[in-house]
Amino acid sequence: MKNKIILFFCAMFMSGFAIAQSSYFFQNEEVKAGTKKHFLVPIVTGKDSTFIPVSVFNGVRNGETLGITAGVHGYEYAPIMGAQKLIRSINPQKLMGVVILVQLAGLDSFLGRSPYVSPVDKKNLNRSFPGSKNGSNTDKVANFITEQIISKSNYFLDMHSGDAPEDLMRYGAYYSNSSLPEISAKGKEMAYALGFDHVVVFNTDGKAYMKKAESSLYCTAEAFKRGIPSVDIECGRLGIVEQAAVDKVETSVLNLLDYLKFLPLSQPKTQTVKPSLISNRIYTSSKFDGIFYPAKKAGDQVTKGMKLGHITDYFGNILQTIYAEADGLLLLIITTPPINKGEDVTVIAKIDQDLSK
Ligand SMILES: [Zn+2]
Repeated sequence: MKNKIILFFCAMFMSGFAIAQSSYFFQNEEVKAGTKKHFLVPIVTGKDSTFIPVSVFNGVRNGETLGITAGVHGYEYAPIMGAQKLIRSINPQKLMGVVILVQLAGLDSFLGRSPYVSPVDKKNLNRSFPGSKNGSNTDKVANFITEQIISKSNYFLDMHSGDAPEDLMRYGAYYSNSSLPEISAKGKEMAYALGFDHVVVFNTDGKAYMKKAESSLYCTAEAFKRGIPSVDIECGRLGIVEQAAVDKVETSVLNLLDYLKFLPLSQPKTQTVKPSLISNRIYTSSKFDGIFYPAKKAGDQVTKGMKLGHITDYFGNILQTIYAEADGLLLLIITTPPINKGEDVTVIAKIDQDLSK
């Protein structure tokens, strides 16, 4: 009889009954197991206020928590529209664990159609982490994401694209540091699982923002500093909505959920992509204010010395010709006319020989 009881409990455990998910509480509100709930979280400062739209998916089985942010830059539309699709494609009835999805971290930038910075306080949210409870809208939004999303996550994903002037290649990315080898290795596996053709490694060794006393500045860096395996998506370009990029954002998040075993009740996907790893990026900046004429587009193969574009003054006189400083892939190129002195005009990616995958 005793053996039968043990067998019975083993069977329950195997079938998942013994690890049924309990309710999840977000902003003191209950999200029942197997359901999703949407929140408009008010962010109120002394003189301004904003909201953060957040969707919480609570699975039917116990598990870990994945935090996701879209719209940290509110003019980067592909991830924002991808997150809209995820409202329907993440099924809490088939989920294990909890997904907290920030639909639009930078609502001021989104509604104000403002690249890079909030039109309200002129701050770049992705240079404002960990934020502050007593600052402006952007500081408070960063603080909320740090305290209410990142600190509650076992894994973290921040989703971006090329902003309004940026033609950008799609890629997954992960944070790496030699003092955090296991967290870095897990991040690498997550980045590979996203399913992009290219994976960029952000090597943070020696970076000031990794020091305890320094601000993390970047959303993902805040998570990584806390020992959370952390990845980024860059998918989409020029602040436009291309359906293929939107679909790719959605698919890559579902790939990640699958890899992290949040979707044990769904059909497993086959990962066929073997990405190229990029650890070395070469930046070329403008020496002048003026008008930029691009000669290449993101994703083009370039060789050292090749012309990538030129900058003129306001009367058509050439001030600077931009040449490729190395062989590689053109990861980013500015493609709209305005250019400011000191801005990065192009980024070339060198492809590593990564034999580990
Ligand atoms: Zn961005």
